[in-house]
Amino acid sequence: GPRTVLITGCSSGIGLRLAVQLAQDPGQRFQVIATMRDLQKREKLEQAAGAALGRTLSIRHLDVCSEASVAQCLGGIPERRVDVLVNNAGVGLIGPIESISIAEMKRVFETNFFGAVRMVQAVLPGMKLRRSGHIVVMSSVMGLQGIVFNDVYAASKFAMEGFCESLAVQLLQFHVFVSLVEPGPVNTDFELKLMEDVSRSEFPGTDPATLRYFQEVYLPASREIFSAMGQSPEDVAKAVVQVIGAARPPFHTLTNPLYTPLTALKSVDPSGELSVRTYHSLLFDYGALFRLSVRALSCLTCRCCRRRVAPA
Ligand code: NAD
Repeated sequence: GPRTVLITGCSSGIGLRLAVQLAQDPGQRFQVIATMRDLQKREKLEQAAGAALGRTLSIRHLDVCSEASVAQCLGGIPERRVDVLVNNAGVGLIGPIESISIAEMKRVFETNFFGAVRMVQAVLPGMKLRRSGHIVVMSSVMGLQGIVFNDVYAASKFAMEGFCESLAVQLLQFHVFVSLVEPGPVNTDFELKLMEDVSRSEFPGTDPATLRYFQEVYLPASREIFSAMGQSPEDVAKAVVQVIGAARPPFHTLTNPLYTPLTALKSVDPSGELSVRTYHSLLFDYGALFRLSVRALSCLTCRCCRRRVAPA
């Protein structure tokens, strides 16, 4: 029969697109429980789901930050059976850390880290008993590589990466798979919400030089990178559908190939010098990002290199 997939954060963006693609799967492999914190925002999903609504897709309330909400949602699922959990709900945070309160930072971790962990705790006993299951986590390129002025967001995604790496080893024993998906920039409300936050903030406690660096260097570069390299949520959802459908799901999936060479810099130079300096210079010359990626990509795909790395 179809596998039950529970997704968090489905009122917008990647979560919404993923819910719709899984529910409209031509092979009807999935029964989707699309959850969201605020059911008043369900209309966009209902419209996108079309005829799948009420058949292969149902909408439920779930706030990943609330113990009671998670318990209630799981309690409403027959036998509490979730075959695939997709931890997609997440929030961003940008700006100089001098201007961000510890309470704001904790809110990011409450959602991106503890929210996802709470969901894993809720579905894990059943998966272990059944000796089957799949936990998918929407991480980010920033879970592999820190990006300037995204300090706390990157830390929350790194935390998830470490959590999953540890858990994946244990769960091999139970035939439960863990997958991290790492998109680069994606054109969703995510970026809009960040820009709204930034436009409201007065950046208390931030010195003028740092503020200039943030507003005059980082923000324009970030905007440029989103419009030039951003993927659509549909494309990211498509990659996740593949991960979920795989017989042997991959542990990592970078959805944007342009970022693969950048994340490889760390392993090329274990001192970390190369990646820190490259990211610094990219900020002032983001055209270099393309040149670097195009060069590395053509290198990865050219036959002479492949011959060189192929086993004899
Ligand atoms: P989005 O803002 O459209 O979606 C995030 C969703 O999470 C929203 O629907 C929001 O309501 C929901 N959410 C927030 N707090 C919640 C809570 N406590 N309980 C339940 N739901 C909650 O943005 P998106 O781009 O679709 O983001 C989805 C995921 O992808 C996030 O984890 C994000 O970190 C990750 N991601 C986004 C980008 C990007 O550039 N947009 C890049 C890499 C990774």
